[in-house]
Amino acid sequence: MPSLQSVISCLSDYDPSALPVEQANRIIAEVIEPVSGIEQVAIRSALDRVLAEDVVSPIDVPAHDNSAMDGYAFSSAALQAANGGEVTLRVIGTALAGETHGLTPAAGEAVRIMTGAVMPVGCDTVIPQEFTQAVPGAGSESGGEAAGEAVRFAADAVRAGDNRRLRGEDLARGKPALNQGRVLQPADLGLLASLGIAEVKVRRRLRVAFFSTGDELRSIGEPLDAGCVYDSNRYTLHGMLRRLHVELIDMGVVRDDPAALEAALRSACENADAVITSGGVSVGEADYTRQIMAELGDVTFWKIAMRPGRPMAFGRIASNGHQALLFGLPGNPVAVMVTFYHFVRAALHRMMGADIAPPPLMRVRSAHAIRKKPGRTEYQRGILARGADGQWEVRITGQQGSGVLRSMSEANCFIVLGHEQGGVAAGDPVEVMLFEGLL
Ligand code: AMP
Ligand code: MG
Repeated sequence: MPSLQSVISCLSDYDPSALPVEQANRIIAEVIEPVSGIEQVAIRSALDRVLAEDVVSPIDVPAHDNSAMDGYAFSSAALQAANGGEVTLRVIGTALAGETHGLTPAAGEAVRIMTGAVMPVGCDTVIPQEFTQAVPGAGSESGGEAAGEAVRFAADAVRAGDNRRLRGEDLARGKPALNQGRVLQPADLGLLASLGIAEVKVRRRLRVAFFSTGDELRSIGEPLDAGCVYDSNRYTLHGMLRRLHVELIDMGVVRDDPAALEAALRSACENADAVITSGGVSVGEADYTRQIMAELGDVTFWKIAMRPGRPMAFGRIASNGHQALLFGLPGNPVAVMVTFYHFVRAALHRMMGADIAPPPLMRVRSAHAIRKKPGRTEYQRGILARGADGQWEVRITGQQGSGVLRSMSEANCFIVLGHEQGGVAAGDPVEVMLFEGLL
């Protein structure tokens, strides 16, 4: 793994006291490598896990050409022969899904066929049942319940090849079905099942330890002394980390005391792949968090050109032969969430070997003017809804202070105002990142 120093020294315009968001993310990405460790699990248990191998289809899916409709299978040569008029075909038998049949209709003949049944030899088209009419008085011969009847339909009711699913059209044998790095979704479990695959190799779960720092913090259940606040960051972190399906190690509140901080960081480092702290990383803070972090490893302290969430520590700490990645997040509750979503989330995905595209940004109209200075990225909390004219528009959630957690709770998106961007006038387009899928 490259050291932080070697990555940073390659940057020409590195300024840790005004680091653009994008540059911080580039540094983080370069320092991180996926954890090793692979487990084999049954496909039901593989939901939300990261696939550790490419899965190649061992079979053709579907295994045979088959019908997509209930109707009659026939050769499209009959359509050309009818030349836009009517087609009349004698029905020689019935093909049901899941059974083999030796029905081979000749010219002028059809097979009654059910959805999913194997296409008879020589047939390439299925006319759906509802477009056909029975021909009365057709003779009766042996060969199943439909045999001996005849059906009639307009030749232009169907085109050659319609309503037939081709062998291998879903997945051809030998073709990649899923790639390693895929975070398995419900459709993927079904896809694996359709290939007859019972178990897959996935990466082991990431272990993430986290704690809050600050003498003013009280835990739920404790009396709220004068000047104190309840620790909320550990709960938002719990929620955000749960959504990433990592193993959580909640280490509680740690006092602003050098020995307590060192013990907590060492224990976190020895038990987890990544450590997330909140609070104590601002400049001029009267606590020891920064000092102890720096003593335990290769850690840098950034002031990121963003709002909210300016101070952040990032690096790698070591204790008794164990290493862990460290994210020292700001203390303010909104800043914790914003820095988590815009730095930590992608970093943890990278560590778990997950190949996840960055969340999409949508361009929508801003319902009102927004003040903003160029030179920093802002993540305002927005509510995206349809305006009076039916078009999507976004409005901010009122108070945008980095301590106002209600702004996150009320919002359904971030309004992402880019580094170079200035103010926004009412009606101007802005980019939003939906919480849905992110949270
Ligand atoms: P700090 O970064 O430690 O200076 O904290 C900045 C602000 O966030 C202060 O007002 C803290 O009281 C508040 N804060 C820090 N940690 C937490 C926490 N775990 N829960 C709620 N508020 C916090
Ligand atoms: Mg503090």
